Amino acid sequence: MKEHIRFDVMTLFPSLIDCVTSESVIGRARKAGIIDVRCHNIRDYSTDKHRRVDDTPYGGGMGMLMSAPPIYACYQAIRQTLCGRSVCVYMSPQGQKLTQKLAGELVMYDNIILLCGHYEGVDRRVIDKIADMEISAGDYILTGGELPACILIDAVSRLVNGVLSDSECYENESIASGALEYPQYTRPYDFMGERVPDVLLSGDHEKIEKWRREQALAITMKNRPDLF
Ligand code: SAM
Repeated sequence: MKEHIRFDVMTLFPSLIDCVTSESVIGRARKAGIIDVRCHNIRDYSTDKHRRVDDTPYGGGMGMLMSAPPIYACYQAIRQTLCGRSVCVYMSPQGQKLTQKLAGELVMYDNIILLCGHYEGVDRRVIDKIADMEISAGDYILTGGELPACILIDAVSRLVNGVLSDSECYENESIASGALEYPQYTRPYDFMGERVPDVLLSGDHEKIEKWRREQALAITMKNRPDLF
């Protein structure tokens, strides 16, 4: 199992990435040095005297496009600091959708470089030069690639040894197990007249396992039959 992974995020809004990945489970893993998240401000690589990083699209059209040179310079600077297996991902609604399976493939790399677009997107030439793949967070359009990058970092980091306290935590979870998870309950026993199912108080682990398997199958059949 993977012991460490490094993410280098190329973005115009580094504090967005830093903020999301500094809290909770991922924040703790960062502090413990199990995962390394480095944010790179693409604007620092602009050679324009006004530090511009975007321009109008050739051929006309609405909005601004992120230009190639600062992104390429940022990428080159990151590459010089890496060792081990690396992959560069452009976060894009045009990419393949992020799935648990893809997260499992990405965790095999030592370094993941993420490019976050903004505005109308990124000059195609730099994507073609540096990106090994394009990954989408889903079939909707966001204002930037920062939130999708954080989703990817979260999904991949959970698979690194030591990020979760016990591998059981993710093996039984929805999707990872091949089906959705069974319903779970904690105290109080009675919440507004709704009681915890008796079987969970029986102490009979075989019976509990069987009940959970049946519940998981029923929920998957109802909510996500496509998973079968
Ligand atoms: N004009 C682009 C298009 O139609 O494909 C969309 C640009 S979008 C407004 C700006 C940036 O947000 C993109 O360059 C991409 O990095 C990011 N983005 C938006 N939606 C995304 C999604 N579903 N998954 C991953 N990244 C996304």
